[in-house]
Amino acid sequence: MKIENVETYFLKIPLDLAIRDSSFNVSYIGFPAVKLTTDDGLEGWGFNWNTAGGAEFAKEMIDRYMKSALIGKDPMNRKKLVADLFSVENFGWDFRLGKNGLAVMAVASLDMALWDILCKKADLPLWKLLGGFHGRVEAYNTHGGWLSWTTEELVSNAKKLVSEGYRAIKIKVGSPEPRDDYERLKAVRSAVGNFTKVMIDANTRWDLETATRWGRKFDDFDPFWFEEPISPLDIRGHATLRGRITTPIAIGESIHNKFTFRDYIEQGAADILQVDATKVAGITEWIEIANYAGMNNINVYPHTNIQQPLHVQLVAASTNASVVEHVPWLLDVWKDPLVPKQGFFELPKSPGAGTQIREDAIEKYGQKS
Ligand SMILES: [Mg+2]
Repeated sequence: MKIENVETYFLKIPLDLAIRDSSFNVSYIGFPAVKLTTDDGLEGWGFNWNTAGGAEFAKEMIDRYMKSALIGKDPMNRKKLVADLFSVENFGWDFRLGKNGLAVMAVASLDMALWDILCKKADLPLWKLLGGFHGRVEAYNTHGGWLSWTTEELVSNAKKLVSEGYRAIKIKVGSPEPRDDYERLKAVRSAVGNFTKVMIDANTRWDLETATRWGRKFDDFDPFWFEEPISPLDIRGHATLRGRITTPIAIGESIHNKFTFRDYIEQGAADILQVDATKVAGITEWIEIANYAGMNNINVYPHTNIQQPLHVQLVAASTNASVVEHVPWLLDVWKDPLVPKQGFFELPKSPGAGTQIREDAIEKYGQKS
Protein backbone atom coordinates (compact mmCIF):
# COMPACT_ATOMS: atom_id res chain seq x y z
CA MET A 1 0.00 0.00 0.00
CA LYS A 2 1.21 3.52 -0.81
CA ILE A 3 0.10 7.04 0.09
CA GLU A 4 -1.01 8.66 -3.16
CA ASN A 5 -2.32 12.00 -2.04
CA VAL A 6 -2.19 14.40 0.93
CA GLU A 7 -4.93 17.04 1.11
CA THR A 8 -5.04 19.71 3.80
CA TYR A 9 -7.80 22.02 5.03
CA PHE A 10 -8.18 24.81 7.55
CA LEU A 11 -11.56 25.30 9.19
CA LYS A 12 -12.51 28.26 11.34
CA ILE A 13 -15.49 27.16 13.39
CA PRO A 14 -17.42 29.81 15.35
CA LEU A 15 -18.93 28.80 18.70
CA ASP A 16 -22.58 29.49 19.49
CA LEU A 17 -21.61 30.91 22.84
CA ALA A 18 -18.37 32.81 23.49
CA ILE A 19 -16.88 31.73 26.84
CA ARG A 20 -14.03 32.70 29.11
CA ASP A 21 -11.70 30.98 31.56
CA SER A 22 -8.73 32.44 33.44
CA SER A 23 -6.47 32.38 30.37
CA PHE A 24 -8.65 32.39 27.26
CA ASN A 25 -11.58 34.16 25.65
CA VAL A 26 -12.93 31.56 23.26
CA SER A 27 -15.20 32.45 20.33
CA TYR A 28 -13.98 30.04 17.63
CA ILE A 29 -11.97 26.87 17.03
CA GLY A 30 -9.07 26.96 14.55
CA PHE A 31 -8.98 23.48 12.99
CA PRO A 32 -6.30 22.25 10.54
CA ALA A 33 -7.26 18.88 9.01
CA VAL A 34 -5.55 16.42 6.70
CA LYS A 35 -6.74 13.58 4.47
CA LEU A 36 -4.31 10.91 3.23
CA THR A 37 -5.50 8.77 0.32
CA THR A 38 -3.90 5.41 -0.46
CA ASP A 39 -3.53 3.57 -3.76
CA ASP A 40 -6.08 0.98 -2.62
CA GLY A 41 -8.70 3.63 -1.96
CA LEU A 42 -8.48 4.08 1.83
CA GLU A 43 -8.77 7.52 3.42
CA GLY A 44 -6.96 8.44 6.62
CA TRP A 45 -8.09 11.58 8.44
CA GLY A 46 -6.21 13.62 11.04
CA PHE A 47 -6.71 17.01 12.63
CA ASN A 48 -5.55 19.49 15.20
CA TRP A 49 -7.12 22.56 16.78
CA ASN A 50 -6.72 25.50 19.08
CA THR A 51 -8.76 28.33 20.54
CA ALA A 52 -6.41 31.09 19.44
CA GLY A 53 -4.80 32.20 16.19
CA GLY A 54 -1.93 30.31 14.59
CA ALA A 55 -3.30 26.81 14.01
CA GLU A 56 -3.44 27.56 10.27
CA PHE A 57 0.37 27.36 10.26
CA ALA A 58 0.16 23.62 11.03
CA LYS A 59 -1.58 23.25 7.66
CA GLU A 60 1.16 25.37 6.09
CA MET A 61 3.82 23.12 7.62
CA ILE A 62 2.27 20.03 6.08
CA ASP A 63 1.81 21.71 2.69
CA ARG A 64 5.29 23.20 2.50
CA TYR A 65 7.48 20.65 4.26
CA MET A 66 5.79 17.37 5.15
CA LYS A 67 3.54 16.38 2.25
CA SER A 68 6.43 15.38 0.00
CA ALA A 69 7.89 13.14 2.75
CA LEU A 70 4.69 11.02 2.69
CA ILE A 71 3.76 10.65 -0.98
CA GLY A 72 4.64 7.19 -2.27
CA LYS A 73 5.39 5.79 1.22
CA ASP A 74 3.77 2.75 2.88
CA PRO A 75 1.37 4.04 5.61
CA MET A 76 1.92 0.84 7.62
CA ASN A 77 5.45 2.10 8.47
CA ARG A 78 3.93 4.72 10.76
CA LYS A 79 6.77 5.00 13.28
CA LYS A 80 9.40 5.48 10.61
CA LEU A 81 7.25 8.02 8.75
CA VAL A 82 6.64 10.04 11.93
CA ALA A 83 10.36 9.99 12.80
CA ASP A 84 11.13 11.20 9.28
CA LEU A 85 8.57 14.00 9.57
CA PHE A 86 10.44 15.40 12.56
CA SER A 87 13.65 15.26 10.51
CA VAL A 88 12.20 17.41 7.72
CA GLU A 89 13.92 20.83 7.94
CA ASN A 90 15.50 19.65 11.24
CA PHE A 91 12.20 20.22 13.09
CA GLY A 92 13.20 17.60 15.66
CA TRP A 93 16.10 19.77 16.76
CA ASP A 94 14.42 23.17 16.61
CA PHE A 95 12.54 23.42 19.88
CA ARG A 96 10.71 26.59 18.86
CA LEU A 97 9.06 24.76 15.99
CA GLY A 98 9.81 21.12 16.72
CA LYS A 99 9.28 18.98 19.82
CA ASN A 100 7.23 21.61 21.66
CA GLY A 101 5.93 23.68 18.79
CA LEU A 102 4.03 23.89 15.55
CA ALA A 103 5.61 20.77 14.05
CA VAL A 104 4.02 18.73 16.89
CA MET A 105 0.57 19.97 15.81
CA ALA A 106 1.27 18.98 12.22
CA VAL A 107 2.85 15.60 13.04
CA ALA A 108 0.04 14.75 15.49
CA SER A 109 -2.54 15.16 12.73
CA LEU A 110 -0.51 12.99 10.35
CA ASP A 111 0.09 10.30 13.00
CA MET A 112 -3.70 10.16 13.52
CA ALA A 113 -4.31 9.89 9.78
CA LEU A 114 -1.89 6.94 9.60
CA TRP A 115 -3.70 5.22 12.48
CA ASP A 116 -7.04 5.92 10.75
CA ILE A 117 -5.76 4.10 7.65
CA LEU A 118 -4.58 1.15 9.78
CA CYS A 119 -8.00 0.89 11.47
CA LYS A 120 -9.83 1.01 8.15
CA LYS A 121 -7.47 -1.57 6.65
CA ALA A 122 -8.21 -3.82 9.63
CA ASP A 123 -11.95 -2.90 9.40
CA LEU A 124 -11.97 -2.09 13.12
CA PRO A 125 -12.64 0.92 15.33
CA LEU A 126 -9.44 2.09 17.06
CA TRP A 127 -10.45 0.81 20.51
CA LYS A 128 -10.87 -2.73 19.17
CA LEU A 129 -7.62 -2.59 17.23
CA LEU A 130 -5.78 -1.55 20.41
CA GLY A 131 -7.59 -4.11 22.56
CA GLY A 132 -10.78 -3.05 24.32
CA PHE A 133 -10.85 -2.76 28.13
CA HIS A 134 -13.81 -0.52 29.10
CA GLY A 135 -17.28 -1.29 27.69
CA ARG A 136 -18.26 2.39 27.90
CA VAL A 137 -16.53 5.56 29.06
CA GLU A 138 -17.70 7.99 31.73
CA ALA A 139 -18.03 11.63 30.67
CA TYR A 140 -17.39 14.72 32.71
CA ASN A 141 -18.92 17.99 31.58
CA THR A 142 -16.91 21.20 31.42
CA HIS A 143 -19.65 23.19 29.70
CA GLY A 144 -21.00 24.36 32.98
CA GLY A 145 -18.23 26.12 34.74
CA TRP A 146 -17.01 29.07 32.68
CA LEU A 147 -15.73 32.13 34.50
CA SER A 148 -17.92 34.25 32.22
CA TRP A 149 -21.00 32.73 33.86
CA THR A 150 -22.55 34.08 37.06
CA THR A 151 -22.70 31.91 40.18
CA GLU A 152 -26.47 31.53 39.61
CA GLU A 153 -25.89 30.29 36.05
CA LEU A 154 -23.16 27.97 37.31
CA VAL A 155 -25.40 26.44 39.98
CA SER A 156 -28.50 26.02 37.81
CA ASN A 157 -26.43 24.47 35.03
CA ALA A 158 -24.68 22.11 37.49
CA LYS A 159 -28.08 20.91 38.73
CA LYS A 160 -29.27 20.44 35.14
CA LEU A 161 -26.19 18.34 34.27
CA VAL A 162 -26.68 16.12 37.31
CA SER A 163 -30.33 15.65 36.37
CA GLU A 164 -29.16 14.58 32.88
CA GLY A 165 -27.08 11.82 34.45
CA TYR A 166 -23.62 13.37 34.72
CA ARG A 167 -21.72 12.21 37.79
CA ALA A 168 -18.79 14.56 37.17
CA ILE A 169 -18.58 18.26 36.26
CA LYS A 170 -15.76 20.78 36.06
CA ILE A 171 -15.73 24.44 36.97
CA LYS A 172 -13.11 27.07 36.21
CA VAL A 173 -11.14 28.88 38.93
CA GLY A 174 -8.07 31.12 38.60
CA SER A 175 -9.95 34.42 39.00
CA PRO A 176 -8.13 37.64 39.87
CA GLU A 177 -10.04 37.51 43.19
CA PRO A 178 -9.72 33.88 44.35
CA ARG A 179 -12.41 34.33 47.00
CA ASP A 180 -14.92 34.53 44.11
CA ASP A 181 -13.77 31.05 43.04
CA TYR A 182 -14.10 29.81 46.62
CA GLU A 183 -17.70 31.03 46.84
CA ARG A 184 -18.55 29.56 43.41
CA LEU A 185 -17.07 26.16 44.31
CA LYS A 186 -18.89 26.20 47.65
CA ALA A 187 -22.20 26.98 45.90
CA VAL A 188 -21.73 24.22 43.31
CA ARG A 189 -20.71 21.60 45.88
CA SER A 190 -23.73 22.47 47.98
CA ALA A 191 -26.01 22.27 44.89
CA VAL A 192 -24.80 18.89 43.57
CA GLY A 193 -24.13 17.10 46.88
CA ASN A 194 -21.19 14.92 47.81
CA PHE A 195 -21.69 12.10 45.31
CA THR A 196 -20.93 14.18 42.20
CA LYS A 197 -17.29 14.63 41.25
CA VAL A 198 -16.42 18.33 40.95
CA MET A 199 -13.15 19.18 39.23
CA ILE A 200 -11.55 22.66 39.31
CA ASP A 201 -9.27 24.18 36.64
CA ALA A 202 -7.10 27.32 36.99
CA ASN A 203 -5.71 27.18 33.42
CA THR A 204 -2.12 27.85 34.70
CA ARG A 205 -3.11 31.27 36.02
CA TRP A 206 -1.89 31.41 39.61
CA ASP A 207 1.51 31.55 41.28
CA LEU A 208 2.53 28.97 43.88
CA GLU A 209 1.57 31.10 46.87
CA THR A 210 -1.94 31.80 45.57
CA ALA A 211 -2.46 28.17 44.53
CA THR A 212 -1.31 27.01 47.98
CA ARG A 213 -3.40 29.49 49.97
CA TRP A 214 -6.60 28.82 48.00
CA GLY A 215 -5.92 25.18 47.20
CA ARG A 216 -5.93 24.49 50.97
CA LYS A 217 -9.33 26.16 51.29
CA PHE A 218 -10.70 24.33 48.23
CA ASP A 219 -9.72 21.03 49.89
CA ASP A 220 -12.78 21.47 52.15
CA PHE A 221 -15.06 20.87 49.15
CA ASP A 222 -13.31 17.68 48.05
CA PRO A 223 -12.50 18.55 44.41
CA PHE A 224 -11.80 15.45 42.35
CA TRP A 225 -8.73 17.23 40.97
CA PHE A 226 -7.10 20.68 40.79
CA GLU A 227 -6.12 21.20 37.14
CA GLU A 228 -3.23 23.38 35.92
CA PRO A 229 -2.87 25.39 39.14
CA ILE A 230 0.39 27.10 38.06
CA SER A 231 2.71 27.38 35.05
CA PRO A 232 3.23 24.02 33.28
CA LEU A 233 6.93 24.88 32.99
CA ASP A 234 7.34 24.70 36.80
CA ILE A 235 7.56 20.99 37.60
CA ARG A 236 9.18 21.56 41.02
CA GLY A 237 6.44 24.07 41.89
CA HIS A 238 3.80 21.41 41.20
CA ALA A 239 5.67 18.93 43.41
CA THR A 240 5.76 21.51 46.22
CA LEU A 241 2.04 22.27 45.88
CA ARG A 242 1.27 18.55 45.86
CA GLY A 243 2.89 18.30 49.29
CA ARG A 244 0.80 21.19 50.61
CA ILE A 245 -2.78 20.33 49.53
CA THR A 246 -4.79 17.13 49.60
CA THR A 247 -6.68 17.61 46.30
CA PRO A 248 -4.99 15.59 43.51
CA ILE A 249 -3.12 17.71 40.96
CA ALA A 250 -3.86 17.21 37.24
CA ILE A 251 -1.71 18.49 34.37
CA GLY A 252 -1.28 17.81 30.69
CA GLU A 253 -3.07 20.06 28.23
CA SER A 254 -0.07 22.41 28.04
CA ILE A 255 2.57 19.68 27.75
CA HIS A 256 3.73 18.68 24.30
CA ASN A 257 6.21 15.82 24.67
CA LYS A 258 6.64 12.55 26.52
CA PHE A 259 9.84 13.55 28.32
CA THR A 260 8.10 16.36 30.22
CA PHE A 261 5.37 13.90 31.28
CA ARG A 262 8.11 11.49 32.39
CA ASP A 263 9.69 14.23 34.49
CA TYR A 264 6.36 15.13 36.15
CA ILE A 265 5.93 11.46 37.05
CA GLU A 266 9.49 10.95 38.29
CA GLN A 267 9.52 14.17 40.32
CA GLY A 268 6.22 13.30 42.04
CA ALA A 269 4.68 16.48 40.64
CA ALA A 270 1.24 15.27 39.47
CA ASP A 271 -1.43 12.78 40.53
CA ILE A 272 -3.32 12.70 37.22
CA LEU A 273 -2.09 13.14 33.63
CA GLN A 274 -4.44 14.75 31.11
CA VAL A 275 -2.54 13.61 28.05
CA ASP A 276 -4.10 14.91 24.84
CA ALA A 277 -3.22 13.25 21.51
CA THR A 278 -3.59 16.62 19.77
CA LYS A 279 -1.12 18.31 22.13
CA VAL A 280 1.59 15.62 21.96
CA ALA A 281 2.71 13.97 18.72
CA GLY A 282 -0.50 12.04 18.15
CA ILE A 283 -1.91 8.64 19.11
CA THR A 284 1.48 6.88 19.13
CA GLU A 285 2.96 9.19 21.77
CA TRP A 286 -0.31 9.23 23.77
CA ILE A 287 -0.10 5.45 24.15
CA GLU A 288 3.58 5.60 25.20
CA ILE A 289 2.83 8.18 27.90
CA ALA A 290 -0.29 6.38 29.14
CA ASN A 291 1.62 3.11 29.44
CA TYR A 292 4.46 4.73 31.42
CA ALA A 293 1.89 6.45 33.66
CA GLY A 294 0.27 3.07 34.29
CA MET A 295 3.58 1.55 35.32
CA ASN A 296 3.82 4.34 37.89
CA ASN A 297 0.26 3.86 39.20
CA ILE A 298 -0.92 7.13 37.68
CA ASN A 299 -4.20 7.44 35.80
CA VAL A 300 -4.80 9.31 32.53
CA TYR A 301 -7.95 11.40 32.16
CA PRO A 302 -7.40 13.05 28.77
CA HIS A 303 -7.97 16.71 28.11
CA THR A 304 -10.67 16.82 25.42
CA ASN A 305 -12.50 19.95 24.33
CA ILE A 306 -13.54 18.70 20.91
CA GLN A 307 -11.79 15.38 20.25
CA GLN A 308 -14.14 12.97 22.04
CA PRO A 309 -14.45 10.44 19.15
CA LEU A 310 -10.68 9.86 19.38
CA HIS A 311 -10.10 10.05 23.14
CA VAL A 312 -13.09 7.92 24.09
CA GLN A 313 -11.50 5.15 22.01
CA LEU A 314 -8.03 5.58 23.54
CA VAL A 315 -9.51 5.48 27.04
CA ALA A 316 -11.67 2.45 26.18
CA ALA A 317 -8.46 0.57 25.29
CA SER A 318 -6.46 1.61 28.40
CA THR A 319 -6.33 -0.11 31.78
CA ASN A 320 -5.32 3.08 33.61
CA ALA A 321 -7.51 5.69 31.91
CA SER A 322 -11.03 6.85 32.59
CA VAL A 323 -13.38 9.84 32.36
CA VAL A 324 -13.32 11.87 29.13
CA GLU A 325 -14.10 15.57 29.06
CA HIS A 326 -17.22 16.67 27.18
CA VAL A 327 -17.85 20.11 25.72
CA PRO A 328 -20.65 20.16 23.12
CA TRP A 329 -18.63 21.75 20.32
CA LEU A 330 -18.06 20.58 16.70
CA LEU A 331 -20.92 18.09 16.76
CA ASP A 332 -21.71 19.07 13.16
CA VAL A 333 -18.08 18.61 12.08
CA TRP A 334 -17.30 14.98 12.99
CA LYS A 335 -18.46 12.18 10.71
CA ASP A 336 -19.34 10.18 13.83
CA PRO A 337 -19.83 12.62 16.73
CA LEU A 338 -20.14 11.27 20.26
CA VAL A 339 -22.54 12.70 22.82
CA PRO A 340 -22.83 11.21 26.32
CA LYS A 341 -26.07 9.57 27.34
CA GLN A 342 -26.81 9.47 31.08
CA GLY A 343 -23.22 10.57 31.69
CA PHE A 344 -21.52 7.89 29.58
CA PHE A 345 -20.11 7.67 26.06
CA GLU A 346 -21.02 4.57 24.07
CA LEU A 347 -18.12 3.20 22.02
CA PRO A 348 -18.13 3.81 18.26
CA LYS A 349 -18.74 0.84 15.98
CA SER A 350 -17.48 2.08 12.61
CA PRO A 351 -13.88 1.39 11.50
CA GLY A 352 -11.41 4.22 12.07
CA ALA A 353 -9.72 6.36 14.68
CA GLY A 354 -12.64 8.76 15.20
CA THR A 355 -10.78 11.49 13.33
CA GLN A 356 -12.85 11.79 10.15
CA ILE A 357 -14.78 14.98 9.48
CA ARG A 358 -17.77 15.60 7.23
CA GLU A 359 -17.13 16.89 3.73
CA ASP A 360 -19.94 19.42 4.14
CA ALA A 361 -18.19 20.81 7.24
CA ILE A 362 -15.26 21.67 4.99
CA GLU A 363 -17.63 23.54 2.67
CA LYS A 364 -19.27 25.28 5.62
CA TYR A 365 -16.22 26.29 7.68
CA GLY A 366 -13.23 25.89 5.33
CA GLN A 367 -11.00 28.94 4.82
CA LYS A 368 -9.60 29.50 1.37
CA SER A 369 -5.86 30.11 1.50
MG1 LIG B 1 -8.03 22.71 31.41
